[in-house]
Amino acid sequence: MYIPDEKRYQAMQYRRCGNSGVLLPLLSLGLWHNFGELTPFPVQQAILRTAFDHGITHFDLANNYGPPYGAAESNFGRHMDTDWRPHRDELFLSTKAGYDMWEGPYGNWGSRKYLISSLDQSLRRMHVDYVDLFYHHRPDPETPIEETMGALDQIVRSGKALYVGISNYSPEQTRAAVAELKRLGTPCLIHQPRYSMLDRRIENGLTEVLRKERVGCIAFQPLCGGLLTGKYLNGIPEDSRMKTDGRFLKPGSLTEDTMRKIRALKEIADRRGQKLHHLALQWVLRDSVVTSALIGVSRPEQITDNLAVLNAPPLSEEELAAIDRILS
Ligand code: NDP
Repeated sequence: MYIPDEKRYQAMQYRRCGNSGVLLPLLSLGLWHNFGELTPFPVQQAILRTAFDHGITHFDLANNYGPPYGAAESNFGRHMDTDWRPHRDELFLSTKAGYDMWEGPYGNWGSRKYLISSLDQSLRRMHVDYVDLFYHHRPDPETPIEETMGALDQIVRSGKALYVGISNYSPEQTRAAVAELKRLGTPCLIHQPRYSMLDRRIENGLTEVLRKERVGCIAFQPLCGGLLTGKYLNGIPEDSRMKTDGRFLKPGSLTEDTMRKIRALKEIADRRGQKLHHLALQWVLRDSVVTSALIGVSRPEQITDNLAVLNAPPLSEEELAAIDRILS
């Protein structure tokens, strides 16, 4: 039986998520990789336990996380049965729908039909009665925003999710979604965009919208899938994601320009006496508009390693400017 560490809330820091009552840990754990059929159940279990033992209360899923699709939620349902039911109220669980999930016209995008059926499936797989947060995973150019946001509003009112959010929406789409949810009386809790030193697109308008609307922001892939650990600087390690699960992270992403940036960033981290990935996480969290950095890990030690971000020395103006120059 799992008994969580008594000291689990001592070191973690929590940030308020936009204008809401919700506090999220600076580091949250995503189950996109390493929770499907490729990873043994005991490894998954050790990752989840290590995270929670260090105050990581937020686990992020989606209907299609696997492989195969649905597997991360089904495995999480088993973890729920073995470890988490007694601690359900200490957890903040999210799932999403928006990408292709099942065949035919109703298993993709942003219709009321898809979102509500998908969440019903997710709850059954995860062995929970509700999730804390349900996202529309990506914008749907064809479905009226009123229908998609209406479905999110209905989901909250039916008690299947406590909060709702959006992911991968542009600044304009975000403004429209936030306004429609406000009109319906169900606030948008959070946006989940991709954000890292190697992808700064949210700085071109989105962060401004989120700050103004007081919507939270959880940055996914803050380590760019592992590139910002520096592990690919001297080839592709056997135990790295690019070797063990090449579905998304491909050798093609190791361009000369990217490697040059990573090398230069690593020099800054070295001078500061920290690891590159700690600098990368600290940098993503430097502005409090970002509520949490949503990391993935392939083993429990990576969780404890990444916690070093909590005690990292502050970044000076000069260091931030030097980073900007490298990334420009
Ligand atoms: P990261 O950028 O955090 O990359 C995680 C990978 O980095 C790990 O699997 C591991 O790779 C490596 N890593 C992490 N910590 C360390 C460490 N201390 N030392 C060495 N290597 C380390 O994020 P992910 O790509 O995993 O995405 C995180 C989450 O973001 C997902 O689980 C999901 O919840 C969310 N997401 C959301 C999307 C959306 O559309 N909303 C899209 C994509 C992700 P290795 O396997 O090589 O050890």
